[in-house]
Amino acid sequence: MKQYAKLLKYKNNCAVAYARNGACGACGFVIRPQVRIEIQQRNKINYCENCGRILMEKFEDL
Ligand SMILES: [Zn+2]
Repeated sequence: MKQYAKLLKYKNNCAVAYARNGACGACGFVIRPQVRIEIQQRNKINYCENCGRILMEKFEDL
C-alpha cells in the first residue's frame, strides 16, 4: 500500500487513469471484470492493458 500511495503523487503526469464506467478513463479501453475487481480491492497495481497507465477507481466511496 505504501507503493500505491507513492504512485498517487504522479497522477498529474498522466501515469494514472481513473476507471470510468468499467473503462479506462484515459483511452476508453474496456477493463475486464476480473481486473475491475482487483482495482476495487486495491491490493495490487493494475495497469490498463491498452495504454499502460495505472488504473484506479475514483475515491467516491471514501
Ligand atoms: Zn487506457
